Amino acid sequence: MVFKQKMVMRKNQRRVDYSKPANNSTISDKEAIVDAVRKKRAKKLLFGSDIENWNPTTELGKKVKNGEIKDLNEIFDRNLKIMEPEIVDFFIKDIREKLMDTTKTSYVRMAGRKYNYRACVLIGDGSSFLGFGIGKDKDKWTSATKAARLARLNLVRLKKGCGSWECLCGTDHTVPFDVVGKTGSVRITLSPAPLGTGLVATEIVKPVLEFSGIKDVWSRTLGKTSTKINMIQACIDALRKTYKKDRK
Ligand SMILES: [Zn+2]
Repeated sequence: MVFKQKMVMRKNQRRVDYSKPANNSTISDKEAIVDAVRKKRAKKLLFGSDIENWNPTTELGKKVKNGEIKDLNEIFDRNLKIMEPEIVDFFIKDIREKLMDTTKTSYVRMAGRKYNYRACVLIGDGSSFLGFGIGKDKDKWTSATKAARLARLNLVRLKKGCGSWECLCGTDHTVPFDVVGKTGSVRITLSPAPLGTGLVATEIVKPVLEFSGIKDVWSRTLGKTSTKINMIQACIDALRKTYKKDRK
């Protein structure tokens, strides 16, 4: 009983009431406080790396911190592998993260069933870099941090353009040509669309296209499209092929 009471007390201590204004403050102050809290929450990342106190362990990391490598494009041009997530945070200042999916998974032991959580996280810089990671752990939020870390390591570069024969404006708003991506049974083809079309795609895939900065696109899908993870990975595979020589 004593233990339970202590737990309840701790819970009450943690809870902060944002609906009430802080002591001796007017209504306008309250709005400012709420805004500040919202901004803090918006900035709060699943995987927050401390770049100032970062001690790089890999060769690439040391070069990045010394300033020998000046861009993420340089890393991709030289086919170097990113082994530290801080490298990505170093170059992309305002990185975007989204928790796409969380599910409870189970495995069987002699004593019975045990449960884990699986989280999928999408990251991007809003223009030309994307990453997707899947993390598993006993807790929901630790699995999300794992996924956010892995998403930084599985970074993908993409190319944009104006490939539509109806538009020919020359700005980067669609895919430069038809691309097909696949994982499992899912096939997705993205084809260029003229300005003002919008994203003609399913709700699952839309955040991926928004994170990559694509505004107009047409899409067709095949296979079992209700599997969320395969759909997202197929879309990223298609976008990755905008940089490939063989487009199959
Ligand atoms: Zn155009």
